[in-house]
Formats: sequence, structure tokens, C-alpha cells
Amino acid sequence: MYDFIAIGLGPFNLSLACMAEPVENLNCLFLDKKTEFSWHPGMLLDGTTLQNPFMADMVTLADPTSRYTYLNYAKQHGRLYRYFIRENWYLDRHEFNRYCQWVAAQLSNVRFAHEVQDISYDEQEQVYQVCGVHAQTGTPFAYQARKLVIGIGSLPRFPGVFSQPADAAKAIHSGFYLEHKAQLQRCKNVTVIGSGQSGAEIFYDLLQGSAEHGYSLNWVTRSDRFFQMETAKLTLELLTPEYAEYFYGLPEAQKASTLSSQQGVFKGINQSLISKIYDSLDERSLHKLPPVKLLSNLGLQSAEQRDDGQWALRMKHQKLGNEFEHVTDGLIFATGYGYQLPGFIEGIRERIRWDAQGCYQASRTWAVDHQEREIYVQNVGLQSHGMANPDLGLACYRNGRLLHQLTGVDHYPCDPRIAFQEFSPRVGDGFTALAS
Ligand SMILES: Cc1cc2nc3c(=O)[nH]c(=O)nc-3n(C[C@H](O)[C@H](O)[C@H](O)COP(=O)(O)OP(=O)(O)OC[C@H]3O[C@@H](n4cnc5c(N)ncnc54)[C@H](O)[C@@H]3O)c2cc1C
Repeated sequence: MYDFIAIGLGPFNLSLACMAEPVENLNCLFLDKKTEFSWHPGMLLDGTTLQNPFMADMVTLADPTSRYTYLNYAKQHGRLYRYFIRENWYLDRHEFNRYCQWVAAQLSNVRFAHEVQDISYDEQEQVYQVCGVHAQTGTPFAYQARKLVIGIGSLPRFPGVFSQPADAAKAIHSGFYLEHKAQLQRCKNVTVIGSGQSGAEIFYDLLQGSAEHGYSLNWVTRSDRFFQMETAKLTLELLTPEYAEYFYGLPEAQKASTLSSQQGVFKGINQSLISKIYDSLDERSLHKLPPVKLLSNLGLQSAEQRDDGQWALRMKHQKLGNEFEHVTDGLIFATGYGYQLPGFIEGIRERIRWDAQGCYQASRTWAVDHQEREIYVQNVGLQSHGMANPDLGLACYRNGRLLHQLTGVDHYPCDPRIAFQEFSPRVGDGFTALAS
């Protein structure tokens, strides 16, 4: 019998596994359906980096003395001095993946190739029964636990533009870019939809191959520009525990408008990539090369694959209201990810609190069961918990709070004050609350 079982071993639960391991008398198990840790393999492009400094590894921000820090990984692999000389705080994405694999290989509480398919609750014993199959052997497994942590990430999301379900099935999402890259590069023209970091990385990657393979390239966004990710220091204070706490306490009506005003912080393209793209466009403009277009203000209305395999795209100018048709043979959607409720939740549906939209209603401490002390979720609820949710820099903070909930002991106390700005004035410190 485990104290808790965590489902999914993406970076968030992997970090929890590292932080749980040294806690005495805590018996926990982490399960993932993949055969090994692999971080968004379809987007492991050469030359791409994490958006957070390396200290946002699995443990450093909770316990820099842990053996699972990135710096220890670099030391163990003889890379510490090179990293020091390189002076780059932003880990290469391949390097981050290798580091996470190294971490996972040392943990005794993780099991890969374990796909969870069903969870039920035994009222008499007051335990959760977690069942599934081994992904390689097909052998069934069943484990019991008092509590659960669900950290299964999100799935590729397409806009609702397909008139035929068969077209949706044939469309390519950025999450699977690498396995379709060769196919896209055989096209005469390729259209990339979406101007977030993934869209920009794919556009830049395809731009490098356009001359050699001879395809033209279009990059389309409905935004009014290809905007940069905001990384000013005082803005980064919005990615602190204090801001996460403040955001959770906002009135519901305020949360949506606050989030939409923060698009530049958790969406957008990093500055160095924008520069590389611009410089590349400028250099290629001096030569006779296949055309490249960047199109802003264009919202995709519909996408239909014709009999000849080409995609007919209907687009609407977001400000002028006029519509256009664009035909392309290569098409890739970099349109983000969304949460999908897992099938295994059905057996414990009654134990979970749901909001009006049928999503988990997570408490301040990410509990979703009625008692707020048994079932926890990772990286769910952007609308309720804000942009801290998917940010790797806040993994240690959330996992510290989760372990506190799971064990009743605060093993990883958070720094008392991080942000210089006060998101709401502290009363009694020069500010008096007025009656409203
Ligand atoms: C390309 C890309 C780059 C990103 N870069 C950054 C960045 O630099 N900084 C940042 O802060 N954020 C970044 N993000 C956002 C976010 O941090 C990542 O998406 C992160 O991987 C989310 O971690 P996770 O643990 O929630 O889920 P995931 O990484 O998606 O992992 C979920 C795991 O659950 C497993 N699983 C699912 N269902 C089951 C089941 N039934 N049984 C067992 N296992 C199951 C899956 O196999 C998977 O391994 C990036 C996102 C993407 C797509």
C-alpha cells in the first residue's frame, strides 16, 4: 500500500519524485506509460533551449543541496567547466531531456512502461486501486494508494476549423513536427499556423531548409504582430509563488481578463529567436530564394484537404474583416495544447469536484476531491491558478506545497518574500483598508 501514487512522469511529477525520495517513511510510486522519460520528443529541435534559467531544474529551487540538481548532473558528466565557460543559463532542450533521463534512472520510486487505465475507490478500505497494463509486455498491474497525484500533461490542440473529421485526423500538430519534417520538406509550399514559441521554432527550422529543398514558406498568425515573450525582471515577478497565491484569490470575473492581458508573458517568442529569424530573413532577401511570407492579423476560418492532397485554407483579416483563400500542400498547426480528461478518471468521477464547464475544480492547493486531501493535479487549471501552472520555474514551489499536503509536514518551506512588488498592499504597513 502506497501513501500516494503519481500518474505521469513529465517534468512536474519527476520533480515531485525527486523531492519525495528523501522524505523518511514516505512510500510513493510514480507511473508513466512511456518506456523512458522523453520530453516533447517531436519538438526536440537542435539549437532550441528552455525558456527558464537552468536553476528551474527538478530540485534546485526547493533544495540546491539535492543530488538531482542540474549542476550535479553536469559535474557527473564532466561538463561543469564547459558549462561555466559557456556562460549560458538556458539549457539546450536535448540537454534538459538527457538531464531528466539521468534523474529518472536514479530514482527508485519511478516505473516506466506503466499505462494507467483505470482507477477505482474501495470505500471499505479507503484506498484507491490503480490499474493498467505494462506497455511492452501487456501484463496487467494493480497498486493501492491512499492518495493520488495526476500529472499527465496536456495534448495537442487544433482550432475548430475542419469541416471533415477525416481532415482533422490528417492535420499535423507541432507536437509531432520532427516525425513529419521530411514530409513537409518535400512540399512545394509549407504554411505554419501560430506564432508562439513552437510556431517560431518550426518556422525558423523550415526556413533553414527552404533553399536546399526549394519550398516556399508562409507563417500565419491571427495576432496583430509576431510578438516577443516578455522577460523584464519586474514582469518575471508574475512567475513567483506570491503572484500565484494572489492570482488564485482574484474574483473569477477578473481572472480571465488578467490572463488575457498576460499573453506576452506566457505566450510569444523569445528575443534571441526573433533576432535569428529577422537576420535570416534579411540575409536571404539578398539572394534569389523561394519566397517567404509572414502574415499577421489572419485568423484561420476553415481548413479542408482537397482530393489532390492540397489544403484549402480560408482566412479572415482580424481588423479589416475581409476573407482570403490560400492553398498549400504542407500545413502545420502550432496552436498549443489543451487538457483532456483521462479515461481512467471515470471510476472515481464521483469523488471529484467539477466546475460548470466539466473541468476539475481545483483548490488553492490543487486538490480536486471533495475532502480536498486525496486527489491532486499538476499543471491543470490555467483559468483558476494562472500562468504559474505550466511554468517549470514554479515546479519546485508547487511540489513543496503538494508534499506538505500529502504528508502534513512542510519539508520544503518556500522563501518568505520573493517579489519586490506588492500585488495588493499589505494592510498595517503604511496602508489602511477603507470600507468599500
Ligand atoms: C515544446 C515545449 C517546450 C516547452 N518549454 C518550456 C520551457 O522552456 N519552460 C517552461 O516553463 N515550460 C515549457 N513548456 C510547458 C511545460 O513546462 C511542458 O509542457 C511540460 O512538459 C509539462 O509537464 P507535465 O509534467 O505537466 O506534462 P508532460 O511533460 O506532458 O508529461 C506527462 C506525462 O504523463 C504521461 N501519461 C499520460 N497519460 C498517462 C497514463 N494514462 N498512464 C501513465 N502515464 C501517462 C505521459 O506519457 C507523459 O510522460 C514547454 C512545452 C512544450 C510543448
